Amino acid sequence: MGKLIAANWKEHPKTEAEALALFKAVAKKERPDGAEVVICPPFIYLEEIAREFKRLTPDRRKGLAVGGQDVFWEEQGAYTSEVGPAMLRSLGVKYAIVGHSERRRFEKETDGTINKKIALAARDGLKIILCVGESLSVREKGAAVAKKFVGQQLLKDLKNIPLKTGQLFVAYEPIWAIGTGKNDRPEDTRDMAVFIKSSLKKTRRISVRFLYGGSVNSKNAADYVQLKEVDGALVGGASLKAEEFGKIINSV
Ligand code: PEP
Repeated sequence: MGKLIAANWKEHPKTEAEALALFKAVAKKERPDGAEVVICPPFIYLEEIAREFKRLTPDRRKGLAVGGQDVFWEEQGAYTSEVGPAMLRSLGVKYAIVGHSERRRFEKETDGTINKKIALAARDGLKIILCVGESLSVREKGAAVAKKFVGQQLLKDLKNIPLKTGQLFVAYEPIWAIGTGKNDRPEDTRDMAVFIKSSLKKTRRISVRFLYGGSVNSKNAADYVQLKEVDGALVGGASLKAEEFGKIINSV
């Protein structure tokens, strides 16, 4: 299985025209054989970008996909501003990010609501990029404490959800490394990958793929994505520049 590089555009760019231009520029970039690139724009641009995706030649579409930055836990109903998995799928969207630390922090998402989101998205056949990761104060207590924290998040976020192998990507994003220019040490990332994969294998009998996220750029991407235990990266800031992101894609 090839590596996956996901772009989390967050609340960028400011206009649809810029979003389309960025998507087109990224779609033109060469991709290593077998690699998968997932572009997660703001919801407002998803429809137009999904349309643009369908306009690409089959050759250009290969190894490229579109994802949501979030997904709601009900298909439809009186839930102002929410977007359910069926809505995403109706646009041809294949992936959804769930549990990003910015949503946990600013939208007060809990492991309970994240669990409900994953349950419905998984049932609907979306591929899920579940974000987990510890704060600086947890990390300062040591790697074992960080692993315990992440293990607890996974336990709660995935509780009672039947998952199939291949459906779940766990994006380990230490909060202190997101958008800060600070990176996890690749050897610590490898340790965390081994911990996450082996504990889910043992407790849930599933194989998951592991992504690293946290200030990944074209200069450091290879340090992570070339590790055999690491299956790719979730990229924020550096995914907003096509040139830079193209280099990251080609570091796998
Ligand atoms: C993210 O928010 O998922 C992320 C990894 O951001 P950045 O690459 O900007 O640290």
